[in-house]
Formats: sequence, C-alpha cells, structure tokens
Amino acid sequence: MSDASHFDFLIIGGGQAGIPLAHGLAKAGRQVGLVEEKYLGGSCINFGCTPTKAAIASARLAYQARRAGEFGLNIPRVEVDFPAVLKRAKEILMRSRSGLDRGFEQVDNPTLIRGHGALEGREGDRFRIRIGETRLTADQVVLDTGTRTAVPSIAGLKRIDTIDSENWLDKPDLPEHLIMIGAGYIGLEMGQFYRRMGSQVTVVEGSGQIIGHEDKDVASAIQGFLEADGITFRMNTKIKNIRPIRDGVIVLVDGAAKQDEIEGSDIFLATGRKPNTDKLGLEKIGVKVTDGGIVEVDNRLATTVPGVWAAGDIRGGPMFTHTSWDDYRILMSQLAGDGARTTDRIIPYGVFVDPELGRVGVTEKEARAAGAKIKIATFDMSKNGKANEIGEPRGFIKVVADADTDLILGAAVLASEGAELVHLYVDVMNAGAPFTVIKNAIHIHPTLAEAVQSAVSSM
Ligand SMILES: Cc1cc2nc3c(=O)[nH]c(=O)nc-3n(C[C@H](O)[C@H](O)[C@H](O)COP(=O)(O)OP(=O)(O)OC[C@H]3O[C@@H](n4cnc5c(N)ncnc54)[C@H](O)[C@@H]3O)c2cc1C
Repeated sequence: MSDASHFDFLIIGGGQAGIPLAHGLAKAGRQVGLVEEKYLGGSCINFGCTPTKAAIASARLAYQARRAGEFGLNIPRVEVDFPAVLKRAKEILMRSRSGLDRGFEQVDNPTLIRGHGALEGREGDRFRIRIGETRLTADQVVLDTGTRTAVPSIAGLKRIDTIDSENWLDKPDLPEHLIMIGAGYIGLEMGQFYRRMGSQVTVVEGSGQIIGHEDKDVASAIQGFLEADGITFRMNTKIKNIRPIRDGVIVLVDGAAKQDEIEGSDIFLATGRKPNTDKLGLEKIGVKVTDGGIVEVDNRLATTVPGVWAAGDIRGGPMFTHTSWDDYRILMSQLAGDGARTTDRIIPYGVFVDPELGRVGVTEKEARAAGAKIKIATFDMSKNGKANEIGEPRGFIKVVADADTDLILGAAVLASEGAELVHLYVDVMNAGAPFTVIKNAIHIHPTLAEAVQSAVSSM
C-alpha cells in the first residue's frame, strides 16, 4: 500500500518544467506530488508569455488598422476598448490554465497539492516538506518556483500603486501617461503595447542602451522603431525619487546633463525578476544559492544537495519558457532515463516588439570579445520582396559565422516574424551544419524566409 504522505518525487512549483515533469515521472511509474501555491502554469501562462502576446496581437492590429490608408483601405476611426483587450488576453490564458488543472483532475498520480511548499529538513534518507499544516516526505525534490518582479529601492516607490508584469491584467484603466522603468524586453514589449493602445509612454533607463545584452546596431534600430511609434526614451537616466500627486506621479530623474521631473499618470516596473527561493527552506538542508537567490546547479540540474534538483528561472542562465521546458527533458533523462541529457544546448529567444527580434547564439560583440575568427553578413529587409508586399520592410538580419568552418555562431533577425524566421538558423546550428546549407537550399518566393537565405548568401 502506498503511503499518502510520502512521494518518490515532490516537485515544488507548477511552472514550465514542473508540470510536464510531474506527468512524465508518473507515467514512468513513480509516485509524484506537485505543490503549487497559486496557479498552475506559473509566470508564462498566467501573466507572462501567453497574455502579453495576446495583448500585443491586439496592439498590432490597432497599429495596422491605423495604417489602413497605406494599403488602400479606409478605416475612419480606430477605437481601443482597453478592458476588452485585457478580457481577450485573460480568456486565452484561462483556457491554458484550466487545461493544466484538468490534466491533474483526471489522474490519481501525479497528485496536485495546493499551498506554499518549503523544505523543513530530513527524516532519515528522506526530505521533509511542509505545506501549511501538512507535512510530507519525498525521496527526491525538484524546485521549479520561478521568479517575481524585482522591486528597485527608489525613494517614494512604496507609496505608489505601480503596474508590473504580474498585475497588469487587473488594471483596466488605460494609463494616460505611462512611465516605464526599465528598457529590457518586458519594458519594451509592454511599452509598445500601451503606446499602441493609446497611452503616452516614457521609458526611463539607467544605462545608455536598451536591451543591453544585444549588439548596438540591433538595439538602436529597435529604439528607432519604438520612437517612430511615439515612445519617448530617457536613457542614462537614474530615478532619484517618486512622489504621488492627485492624478498620478512625479518622477525626479537625474539625466546625463541635468535633474528634472517627469509627470505621468502611472508607473510600470520592468526592472527585472527575482528568484522565488527565499522562502523555500533551502538553508535547512544546505542547498547553495548565490547572493541573488539563484540556485547553484551543475549541467544535470543537480543542486549542491544530492536528491534535490532545480529547474526553470531559479537555476540561473536564460530565463525563458522554452528553456524551462527543456529543463524538464533534462530532468526526465536524469531521473527516469539514461542520464545523458545535460544543459549543453543552443538557446534561441524572441523579443516581441514589432517588428520582432529573433535571436540565437552569440552576438557580434560577444564573438569579437572572445577573439573568435568570424565573418559577418547583414541583409536589409527592405530588399526582400515579401517584406515590401506586406508593408513591413523595416529591420535587418545579421549572421555571425566561424570564418574557418562556416558554422553559424549567432544570428539576429529583426523583421516581421523575426522570432519565427530565426529558427531556420537554429535548426542548422543544432544539426552542426554550415551556413552553406541554407545558401544552397531553395526557399519559396515570395517569402520572408528568402531574406534568411539572402543574408548568408553574401558571406
Ligand atoms: C511579462 C513576461 C513576459 C514573458 N514573455 C515570455 C516570452 O514571450 N517567451 C518566453 O520564453 N518567456 C517569457 N517570459 C518568461 C517566462 O514566463 C519564464 O521564463 C517561465 O515562466 C519560467 O518558468 P519556471 O518554470 O521557471 O517557473 P514559473 O513559470 O515562474 O512558475 C513557478 C511556479 O511556482 C509557484 N511557486 C513559487 N514558489 C512556490 C512555493 N514555495 N510553493 C508552491 N508553489 C510555488 C508559482 O506560483 C508559480 O506558479 C515572460 C515573463 C514575463 C514576466
């Protein structure tokens, strides 16, 4: 008879790795419990990827409708119903969330346990986990607890009712003038969303470049597109303090040249994410974390304590849904497979501004800093037939290849559907094939994918 308070595996956090892992391990014959304190699906489904991309789709449609005249169409007035835009995004996320809930309701194993899970210590070889007043034990534990909004220490901020990436769906009043703090990918995607909905948007960024990790040419082009949408950027600008006024806020900023004030209606905090590892009881069993709260793992996703594993954003490195999902595949291989899969992987990502940025591998600046012998090819999207036909000739493609082997080391596709197009490079990189495979292939005309080929054809 199985002991209902003991599991082979207890997974804390129903994020992008935890859920498929729970089902996968259960199918492999293990008794599995999954602890979730809020909603299954974590950040991605409930406020991140899913609803933001749904909302961005509304914003793009509004943008296109306003351009109707360029296409020979007459749309006299484009009216945004902001609560309806949020409602649509919520409905889409709810479909995903309830699908995940049903997945647990329909089976006895894995067991979904609602509540906040934390490690309490050991019982012999087992780990003891507390969920409210309930105590469970497990032979092995997987942590997949994700991140939350990192709140910067700015004087006066605590007195302001801010918008952030977790609560934006519950704020149905369209901001009149949104002050976006932070120009990382969340700040840019959401900034463009609000702008296209009709808000005035000012982005305040402490450094001199948006999405600081990217090459300067890519970042400058994106900034230019967002400025063309009407977004104002205050770069190299630190916030000194924020104070509430009757209908909004006043932000005192310290720019490169002078101090001045920005008056806005709302603040959106896009200042990064903080790992949910501080209330997990990790210290009770000796799991090592960095000062920033990232769980230290090896390339098998094993923590410093045998039998405890970590997946998703809390394990450091690229914080994306698809990397968390791939962590599930690594953990399945480690926990119920041949143990062969490790974190040696090629990771692409998208920045879903419009036009999109699809990225994979190294940037040009990283390749040069590493002293690699490289060749670079760029291709302007305005030379691509389809891009002109659909009215989106902005952007460019840049490919970094090894000068000796012709292997692609990295690519940036800043174009309409850039996050889709970059996969042509991703797959060739995973195949270990040179760029000449793409160069010598036949791509359909007229397509944006011809541009992917044109870029490497000039190498
Ligand atoms: C606004 C926004 C947009 C994004 N857009 C994209 C995108 O377009 N593409 C992309 O790839 N990524 C995107 N991301 C990132 C993506 O959402 C995350 O990388 C991904 O969700 C990480 O998954 P995870 O497995 O680490 O955990 P999460 O999905 O964060 O899930 C963790 C879960 O653990 C639960 N939990 C935490 N602590 C406990 C505890 N002690 N006990 C029980 N349960 C607990 C939480 O409630 C949560 O459900 C976006 C993120 C944000 C914020």
